[in-house]
Amino acid sequence: MRAVIVGGGLVGCAVALELARRGVAATVLERAVPGAEASSAAAGILAPRVEAHGDASARALGLESLALYEGWVASLGADVGLVRSGVVVVSGASPDRSALSLEGAPLDRLVPGLAARQAWYLPDEGRLDTRRLVGAVHAAAAAAGATFRTGVEVVALAAGQVELAGGERMEGTVVVCAGAWTPRVAGMGALPVRPVRGQLVALGGAPAFSPVVFGPGGYVVPRADELVVGSTMEEVGFTRGVTAAGMQEVLRSAVALLPEVGGREVLRHWSSFRPGSPDGQPLVGRTASGWVASGHFRNGILLAPLTARRLVSAMLDDAALPSAWAPERFGVASRP
Ligand SMILES: Cc1cc2nc3c(=O)[nH]c(=O)nc-3n(C[C@H](O)[C@H](O)[C@H](O)COP(=O)(O)OP(=O)(O)OC[C@H]3O[C@@H](n4cnc5c(N)ncnc54)[C@H](O)[C@@H]3O)c2cc1C
Repeated sequence: MRAVIVGGGLVGCAVALELARRGVAATVLERAVPGAEASSAAAGILAPRVEAHGDASARALGLESLALYEGWVASLGADVGLVRSGVVVVSGASPDRSALSLEGAPLDRLVPGLAARQAWYLPDEGRLDTRRLVGAVHAAAAAAGATFRTGVEVVALAAGQVELAGGERMEGTVVVCAGAWTPRVAGMGALPVRPVRGQLVALGGAPAFSPVVFGPGGYVVPRADELVVGSTMEEVGFTRGVTAAGMQEVLRSAVALLPEVGGREVLRHWSSFRPGSPDGQPLVGRTASGWVASGHFRNGILLAPLTARRLVSAMLDDAALPSAWAPERFGVASRP
């Protein structure tokens, strides 16, 4: 088999890595550079219990992917800042049946300066540095034999081939991993994937705590020497940019959670587009135009290892994919 992967975000790089390790000649076609979009922009939270929002299949698949993470990262041979830091959720209602209620001194020790007297704690959730992760998966895929062509845009799909801007055609088993842009590739069909803009701000200074902190209006993610705070959820199409109102929203929410954050220097701000899906779960499977892995919405970093493993097993071993991820659930035809 020869595979042609459209899009070199984390999902496309992870699929290319898995295919290359299984001996398939895989070529990734990326119109910018690997990780240019949502994947390196993401906050890097691995929180299946919080992000499932009570959906049993989302929780189970998120936990399955999280369980793969340490082994997957070890196989990359790079430090991507992966840590099972736990997650603290400031909310009246328990986010998950396994959440522990914390208050008083134990909570103060876990997150000094938190402006809440009671919170929920999920000790097994994790976080990582997404820029380092995308770089490591890209490098590992290339080392395993995958080919990356950057600065090339796929404009159309047809049976077993893609067409690039400029007219060049490439043949192979097509896998579309074009994130929020997936339905824009001509011939892909009407997939219900849409852009949902998220804005993030990095604040300087080493954090005094390790868990990710979720509040009612946003989250604070500690990294080695900075805090990343976010994020907006905006239906603005593909309008790029960071806005005054967006920064105000994420900074106000972060300062309300942790007042000391207000004194930190703003280092960077950025935004990108989550590939949104109607039910928040991805579309991974076979369509009339080829294979697709898209629509990972708020959890594409978390779900990347499982997506790659399950998709490549379906492609090479005819293994079943999770029904919760089936594109057919939105009426998308599975075969030509
Ligand atoms: C602000 C924000 C915070 C987030 N935080 C988290 C988090 O904490 N945890 C988590 O699990 N997830 C998080 N996410 C979600 C996560 O980033 C995405 O679900 C994931 O990155 C999607 O990966 P992808 O490879 O499908 O898409 P992308 O990373 O967007 O990659 C798609 C790639 O396809 C390329 N492309 C598109 N069209 C074409 C074409 N026609 N030809 C060639 N190339 C093309 C693009 O250039 C791009 O590089 C966050 C997202 C955002 C925006």
